[in-house]
Amino acid sequence: MATESKVLKPEHGGGKRHFIFTEEHEQLRETIRAYALKELAPHADEWEETTFPDSVFHRMGELGFLGLDKPEEYGGQGGDYYTSLVLAEELVHANSGGLAMGVAVHTDMAMPPILAFGTQEQKQEWLVPAIRGEKILCLGITEPDAGSDVAAIRTHARYDEVTDEYVINGAKTYITNGHRADMIVLVTKTDPDAGYDGFTLFLVPMDAPGVIREKRLEKLGMHASDTALLAFQDVRVPATAVLGEKGKGFYHIMWELQGERLIGAAGCVAGAQFALDKTIQFALERTAFGRPIGKFQVTRHKVAEMATKIEAARQLVYMTAWRFQNGEYPVREISMAKLYAAQISVAVADECIQIHGGAGYMKEYGIERIWRDMRLNRIGAGTDEIMLDVIGRSYGL
Ligand SMILES: Cc1cc2nc3c(=O)[nH]c(=O)nc-3n(C[C@H](O)[C@H](O)[C@H](O)COP(=O)(O)OP(=O)(O)OC[C@H]3O[C@@H](n4cnc5c(N)ncnc54)[C@H](O)[C@@H]3O)c2cc1C
Repeated sequence: MATESKVLKPEHGGGKRHFIFTEEHEQLRETIRAYALKELAPHADEWEETTFPDSVFHRMGELGFLGLDKPEEYGGQGGDYYTSLVLAEELVHANSGGLAMGVAVHTDMAMPPILAFGTQEQKQEWLVPAIRGEKILCLGITEPDAGSDVAAIRTHARYDEVTDEYVINGAKTYITNGHRADMIVLVTKTDPDAGYDGFTLFLVPMDAPGVIREKRLEKLGMHASDTALLAFQDVRVPATAVLGEKGKGFYHIMWELQGERLIGAAGCVAGAQFALDKTIQFALERTAFGRPIGKFQVTRHKVAEMATKIEAARQLVYMTAWRFQNGEYPVREISMAKLYAAQISVAVADECIQIHGGAGYMKEYGIERIWRDMRLNRIGAGTDEIMLDVIGRSYGL
């Protein structure tokens, strides 16, 4: 409150933490950041060439980072949804979008459906070792002929009454962790004539006969992650490998995508902030025409525009996370957060390259990597166009 006795001065130094976070979240933030800076970032350049090693999962499991928001009965930390936001935000300090994505696929794409829809046996078999970092998971939705249009997938699971097994045939592509994973949460069709009610999820061990890890796909960014083309040729799994309800796989996976998109949006905001922080530092140090480039009004305004967009995206993500944590299912706002955060992260990274000049184009400064890594977010987990469609349809259009 303003009073005559108090001279108010603007506070630019961070101020209070956001209301969704507690002191424990902030401690967790510091712990994860310290780990990322000390144990991950020093290897980031090397892992761009080789992809990050599986030992990262083991170590993160040991530290309890892979089950922050998972129940203690399965070895998790029993934290709230915000703890996984903290992980997504702080892993940015690993300086490796590919690593952050590989971890997020494990913790926030593959694990949630097992926790939500799995049987006790499935949780013991997969969730518990995944939280410990002993088993690595991936998720297979996308196929060579069907990405945005999930309902058009062709991977098929046929029930064999004689053996009480399912026989799976098909292909999946762009699968993150696909080369290293022990198990894939696989989206299939069990009844091609049943429309949205004809999908079923399966937990398929990657060493099952007939699972073929085809080529390692090369990509624009996220180089530290492995991306696979997979084939399934007469893969037999027991009926107990069905995850959730038979025929309800489409709805199960649409639910999964909501949590994944929100985590992705948090990662985008953090990535954009990371690029901006580096750029502000650069703008204060680099001189041209006798002054730091940050003192040109044009640079100042660019920084101001970027900071404003990041702050707007952050508030949207946090507010939506608050609703999600409190039991709502805000698909419209999640889609908005994913769309906006992904778009601004790419725009920010692009402008940061510009402010860096030639240095921005050089690997040494790390800005070009952020731009290449961030670019995926306008495509993966639902493209911009699909997000716009979800939002537009939510208004009855
Ligand atoms: C690095 C990377 C990692 C990935 N990891 C995984 C993973 O682990 N698991 C997984 O299952 N998938 C993964 N994906 C796949 C990703 O989710 C898909 O690429 C994405 O959903 C888009 O599908 P698509 O590539 O088939 O593009 P398409 O669906 O073919 O779309 C092509 C273009 O058409 C547009 N379009 C399509 N439909 C419409 C429409 N109705 N209205 C307007 N425009 C439309 C799209 O927006 C896009 O611009 C990954 C992708 C990449 C690149």
